[in-house]
Amino acid sequence: MDDSEWLNVIQIASDALECPSAFRDKPFPECSTVHALAQLPTPPPSDEGSPIDEAGNDLTVAVSTAFHPDANLSKTSPDLVLLSSDGVFFYVDAHTLAAASSNQFDSLLPASTTHVHNDHGPVIPIPESADVINVVLHTVYNMSCGHYTPTIDTLISSVHALHKYGMHLKSCLAPSSSLFALILAQAPLAPIQFYALAGAYDLHELAVPISSHLLAYSLSTLTDELATCMGPIYLKRLFFLHLGRMDALRRLLLPPPHPHPPSAECDFAEQKRLTRAWALASAYLAWDARPDLSTSVIESALCSLSDCLNCAECKKSLNERVKQLVVQWSIVKRTI
Ligand SMILES: [Zn+2]
Repeated sequence: MDDSEWLNVIQIASDALECPSAFRDKPFPECSTVHALAQLPTPPPSDEGSPIDEAGNDLTVAVSTAFHPDANLSKTSPDLVLLSSDGVFFYVDAHTLAAASSNQFDSLLPASTTHVHNDHGPVIPIPESADVINVVLHTVYNMSCGHYTPTIDTLISSVHALHKYGMHLKSCLAPSSSLFALILAQAPLAPIQFYALAGAYDLHELAVPISSHLLAYSLSTLTDELATCMGPIYLKRLFFLHLGRMDALRRLLLPPPHPHPPSAECDFAEQKRLTRAWALASAYLAWDARPDLSTSVIESALCSLSDCLNCAECKKSLNERVKQLVVQWSIVKRTI
């Protein structure tokens, strides 16, 4: 590669560096300055300093720590360079991308002859940031990117990007995949966002475990945007999850404790006190309950009725009924 070609590459990095403040303010999760400098594709060795532009400013080129020219990630040597919107270079091979993509990597492959070339092939600028394309490429190369701890926004943007670049999402997000595990690990922090994402691409196996984190979600706060994103089928499933659990709770609460044979201390009339108390307490529970009602709340609300009872048989019957209710409630379906 001659000097003029290197200047082209450096110019691209320089242009990209002018825009995003985030690039200047923090190191990339998927590349580090130290590594980037060590992997500089620029000719000058480190003891001669970084290249200097006409204005006298130092220019550095950021290179992905995972997708650098000598990474040996596939049998084919890197023959394509992706340049993220925030100026990080990812060295990949076009065959791997094209084989995984159903749309020639959003029609970017084969690379146009108008693209700038370096000695590893054409340099294709893409609109995604480095953290997003890092997750995309790790997924395409079937590698885990968990050690980068991508943020919630990065994970969501990465799934959209995988779709955009023609990747088969049901394979990329199969339950055995690292991306599936990464999303599930973050799901408790943004369950409705991840559920909407899973719904958007009909990723049922992902939506099911995520939905277990939505039992406490207030359906009245669902935005038009999220409802549109998840689509009618997954919206219906979410509502039916909530409605179904509330319906099950009411059904389970309805039967009062079994009466015991009348005794000298406690006849049927006396036992009606427990039946009435149960009806009142269960109505209170059902009125105020949400789909995530815990078994401990049920226990404490209903077992406290025991304090009003003098009959040991009635207390025993109450305890057995509460135990039965807790078991029944714990096995009511918690996912879509
Ligand atoms: Zn009794």
